[in-house]
Amino acid sequence: MSILKAEGRKFPTQTQVLVIGAGACGTIAALAAKEHGAEVFIVERDAKPSGSTSLSSGQIPAAGTKLQRAAGLLDDTPDLLYKDILAKAHGECDHAIARLIADEAKNTIEWLVERQVPLTCVLNFQYPGHSRPHMHAAKSLDGAELHAALLAAVEREEIPLATSAHATDLYADADGRIRGVRVTRPDGKTEDIGCDALILACNGYGGSKEMLKRFIPEAAELFYEGHVGNQGDAVRWGEELGASLKDMGSFQGHGAMATPHGVHLNWATVTEGGFHVNVHGKRFSNENAGYSEQALKVHRQPGSIAWAIWDERGDAIATQQASHVEAKQAGAVKRCDSVDAIARVVGCDAKALAQTFADVAAAVRGEKKDEFGRDFTRKPMLKPPYCVSKIAGALTHTQGGLEVNTEMRVLRKDGKLFPNLFAGGGAARGLSGPSDWGYLSGSGLMSATNMGRLAGIAAAKLVKE
Ligand SMILES: Cc1cc2nc3c(=O)[nH]c(=O)nc-3n(C[C@H](O)[C@H](O)[C@H](O)COP(=O)(O)OP(=O)(O)OC[C@H]3O[C@@H](n4cnc5c(N)ncnc54)[C@H](O)[C@@H]3O)c2cc1C
Repeated sequence: MSILKAEGRKFPTQTQVLVIGAGACGTIAALAAKEHGAEVFIVERDAKPSGSTSLSSGQIPAAGTKLQRAAGLLDDTPDLLYKDILAKAHGECDHAIARLIADEAKNTIEWLVERQVPLTCVLNFQYPGHSRPHMHAAKSLDGAELHAALLAAVEREEIPLATSAHATDLYADADGRIRGVRVTRPDGKTEDIGCDALILACNGYGGSKEMLKRFIPEAAELFYEGHVGNQGDAVRWGEELGASLKDMGSFQGHGAMATPHGVHLNWATVTEGGFHVNVHGKRFSNENAGYSEQALKVHRQPGSIAWAIWDERGDAIATQQASHVEAKQAGAVKRCDSVDAIARVVGCDAKALAQTFADVAAAVRGEKKDEFGRDFTRKPMLKPPYCVSKIAGALTHTQGGLEVNTEMRVLRKDGKLFPNLFAGGGAARGLSGPSDWGYLSGSGLMSATNMGRLAGIAAAKLVKE
């Protein structure tokens, strides 16, 4: 995994725009580059592209879309989305990139719909920090459906996609101009492909324990639920080239992964009035602050686990998400008719759990302030039958990465641009600021889809200059 000297090398295969990674960012970048007149080639390490995109729930925030208007949501605007991103990240993300993505998100959604990606808006459920229901997704809320549609579009456009092609080295000139990529095949044989511009769409470093220990030691302890092939290659090459890396300690966690099943519950289990208790039957946080920051809070409980408790009303909403259905099919969700029955499942003192329920009910009625600062008054108190699941905190994806400008061009440490290097999605710095609390739900795919489209357009423009 290194930078090799190009030294006037001639490549047996040559393309104008080369894309590393066939997730949402890479496929969209390739489609956009081709549409803008460039010859494109994608290399993907897996035999069958999956990436975190296929593992995800496929929900992409955007504001002011035709889909929203057609569904009767008339007051969502890019301004609101921009403010939501900034508020969640406490203003500590790149404001110019956040503004650009908030403005472009509706164009990207409409562009995807034109390319037969089956998107609809999710109006019956609102994530923490979303001032309007910004999410757009396939009806299944399954990233695999989104990804399959993107791969089908790549195929329709006859964009070459080499699978089982692990990009292991980049060829660069002394000035940082990328001349080509070396890919290694599963049998160890290598092939070199030359390019006029390179787009890094190979996500972050969640799959590398070594990099997690170096950049986010606390996240290295969490179960990684993203794609294991995301080994931080973009960051490794970037470091060697002298690129600027930003927010390397930042990550998105998920505070309700059903365990030991390893699949996450939908967050309506919390937003609709549900809450988390530890093995003593006691709450320990404001669960509604966000699912990302809840991951470490759950992990820090005795036994590194907790119990999610919600009811059938929340469950009806949660069940629209494919991973939630999977958790139920795997037997991760127990039904309980009473608080005593929940206490037996949790193995805690029934009186302690009854006290927790009484405290939450008082907070719902507005009679008592929640000790963790959660506002319970907007949703009704949970009613039996209850749903209960044992949960752990998970690392979903890393949020640090290569610093890019508004054309998705990678910056050097001194702020100058590399001549022909682009990055997007999980390979680039995210929108979340420096830690785990800054992740606005959906920022992962919002970065991947918008940065991918913008990188593809800008790379095509560059190679045609
Ligand atoms: C369980 C789960 C649920 C999620 N739900 C959501 C959601 O609902 N909304 C949201 O916004 N985000 C969600 N996310 C996050 C989202 O999936 C990611 O942010 C997004 O998919 C990143 O897209 P990407 O194209 O950058 O990376 P990926 O989709 O991971 O694609 C990267 C590709 O690069 C390939 N690759 C890596 N290194 C190399 C190399 N050296 N050579 C060749 N190929 C390489 C990988 O094999 C992979 O196919 C979720 C994530 C998970 C794990």
